[in-house]
Amino acid sequence: MGTPTLDATSTADRLTAAGERVTRQRLLVADALASHGRRITAQELYDRLRRIDPRIGRATVFRTLEALVGAGVARRLEQDGHVYGYVACRPGHHHHLACDRCGRVEEIGEGYITPVADRVAADLGFEIDDARLDFYGLCAQCRAAEERARR
Ligand SMILES: [Zn+2]
Ligand SMILES: [Zn+2]
Repeated sequence: MGTPTLDATSTADRLTAAGERVTRQRLLVADALASHGRRITAQELYDRLRRIDPRIGRATVFRTLEALVGAGVARRLEQDGHVYGYVACRPGHHHHLACDRCGRVEEIGEGYITPVADRVAADLGFEIDDARLDFYGLCAQCRAAEERARR
């Protein structure tokens, strides 16, 4: 539920459309990222992938994640410890709600942002064409767990 799913074909298509090479290892990285469904660092993803395919190189994983970000198949998110977390992205414009506790990342649509853009246009005369926003906080599940722990 709410987890981005990427089938190999659409990932390959999206990489090709972005002028990126499509290789078996790149698709393996994209697939592992999508099935993880949460924010994960390049190192953590590499550690997982090595168990699936011991021949995969660390540099391949790191470079592939950057290629996926460039192609819009993944997004780089901030997280603690001055390392980036990566998350798989569905096609289409969206923004992210990233939980700082469990790493869950949900996508939200433009509808949440439109009122902000309208207000900026009205107040400042600036017309926003493009925005990709990442919101950091606590997800509903983590908040509920916190509530239970408090009782
Ligand atoms: Zn996304
Ligand atoms: Zn959470």
